[in-house]
Amino acid sequence: MDCVRLVNREHRLPHEESLWTKELVWIDHQTQLQPVCARALNAWISACGGEQEVTFVSGWRSYAQQHIIMKETEAERGWDYAHQFVAEVRASEHHTGLAIDLGIAGKDQDLICPDFSGPLAEKMHACAARFGFILRYPKQKTKITGISEEPWHYRYVGPLHAQIMNEKDWVLEEYAEFLRTCSPSHPYLYFDGQQHWALWTQSVSSTVDDGAAGSLLDETTRLIVQALDPAPVAIGKDRAWVELDSAALRHNLITLEKAMSDEQKIMAVLKANAYGHGLAPIAQFLSRQGVDHFAVATMEEAKVIRDLNPNAEILILGYVPACHAQEVSELKLSLTLTSYQQACQLSQTGYPITAHLPVDTGMHRLGEAAQDLDALARYYQLPNIKITGTYSHLYEADNLSPEAQVHTQAQIERFFAAIDGLKHRGIDPGRVHLQGSYGFLNYPELRCDLVRCGIALFGCIADHRSQTKLDLRPVASVHTRIAALRSLKKGEGAGYNHVWSAPQDTTAAILSIGYSDGLLRSSSFQGVEVLIHGQRCPLVGAMCMDQCFVDIGSLPAVIGEEVIVIGTQGTQSISALEIADRTGTIVPETLSLLRGRMPRIFI
Ligand SMILES: *Cc1c(COP(=O)(O)O)cnc(C)c1O
Repeated sequence: MDCVRLVNREHRLPHEESLWTKELVWIDHQTQLQPVCARALNAWISACGGEQEVTFVSGWRSYAQQHIIMKETEAERGWDYAHQFVAEVRASEHHTGLAIDLGIAGKDQDLICPDFSGPLAEKMHACAARFGFILRYPKQKTKITGISEEPWHYRYVGPLHAQIMNEKDWVLEEYAEFLRTCSPSHPYLYFDGQQHWALWTQSVSSTVDDGAAGSLLDETTRLIVQALDPAPVAIGKDRAWVELDSAALRHNLITLEKAMSDEQKIMAVLKANAYGHGLAPIAQFLSRQGVDHFAVATMEEAKVIRDLNPNAEILILGYVPACHAQEVSELKLSLTLTSYQQACQLSQTGYPITAHLPVDTGMHRLGEAAQDLDALARYYQLPNIKITGTYSHLYEADNLSPEAQVHTQAQIERFFAAIDGLKHRGIDPGRVHLQGSYGFLNYPELRCDLVRCGIALFGCIADHRSQTKLDLRPVASVHTRIAALRSLKKGEGAGYNHVWSAPQDTTAAILSIGYSDGLLRSSSFQGVEVLIHGQRCPLVGAMCMDQCFVDIGSLPAVIGEEVIVIGTQGTQSISALEIADRTGTIVPETLSLLRGRMPRIFI
């Protein structure tokens, strides 16, 4: 919560700029923000219904960039102007990634956005504090802030600070001045409607040797925020739940898009309940970000997306029998023609159907052989079936060994030869696509129209399988709570069949998550760990349907405390990749096992 600092102490040296950049997420193609800020911004904009209209003019800037901006402005518009309108190097909140300049899409994107005063702006302004934002330079405070009014310039400070400043009608400088008067012995006590807080400041002067010392809001002061009573349990976060990091998802989408050519588009692969993340929330989020091609495995999944997005292309990758032709046609879904027999049956129903044709380039799963142009060509002649895409699938694009690369290159050549052959016969193959996530990361030079991204969007790429190193962040984390604690004497057994017994006197924590939530029952025999109190602790014994056991030794854990199954706590992280490795499977399986009974909560 201590985010009322203008200069970020941890990232003050130029050589650390690249390090700092890694901790930011892309929120659009130009703008990077701290994840905490990006999440709050996502929530703020969607609550106000401004997804389409709001654009972001700037986010993070390095010290070097700020220096250039300052110098250029001085040269162009004079010293006075520059120092009235441009924040100085090391005094700009842009270095922290916490400032947002907002604009209206399609309007002049100059930093002065005169249009940002319509109904949406008013709506967003009215509830800015609830999402942790303050208006940085209000009109009536220009004397205090020393800079002209900037009605579009918001800054994230966290909901608590924003609420206090809003109630007291303070700008940052006034708030900071007030906080300076609070000390450990005389903290500011505040009730935010749910919880009591104590706030005070402490000097960290001994470690500061910088010119910024002495100014009001800088790294010479540490702000302490202490909760005085336990945080109320948020709705849904009671037994076991999945958190979806909206900032990470947006960041991954933009990172992948930036890595593609302008002509390429993402086809978001959301089969298996969006790889266990939750189909509806993920499809809705991606739709709002402008994704308009989706792929799924079943009719049911396609219908969930169609309900949320009336215009997107939704391709069903799996088998759909002809008896669904009417519904497919009415909902304008795109089918994969999984065999000539199915294609003929679909054609005979008389309903107009849109489809993509798979080409077998070596996986031997679906489609006619790439070399058999006659067999491929006859699909395009079927009445009532309009083929708008032609695709294939790489069967070992995630394998970087030389032999595997030879196989993949052969697949690629067969595919493009088939496409060329079809074109030669005067057939339009429609949109061409070949790569999944690893196909894109390891063969980025291919110029297909669509890239089918599943696991990369969800940020679970194995480094050693990927040649392109993109900064992709995990979207899902899995959380549970301690339901009970048991002291066990050495040799005492716990759980079904006493499969496990305490190797020495210890404490077992009983977690409120089990195999019917989607953890493999075998994982407690395979060294899978969870995070409690920021420490790794092993699952032990036979996992139950809705509960499991952890040996926590002498950790001072308490009932009700949060436990991380997948995700980060303190300095420790457990990834889906780690769990997949330990349980002898692959990440898509680990994630797609996560059951629907766990609430999906966007953070
Ligand atoms: C599942 C699937 C994908 C997505 O694969 P990722 O490796 O998760 O990106 C792409 N194409 C097809 C045909 C698929 O079945």
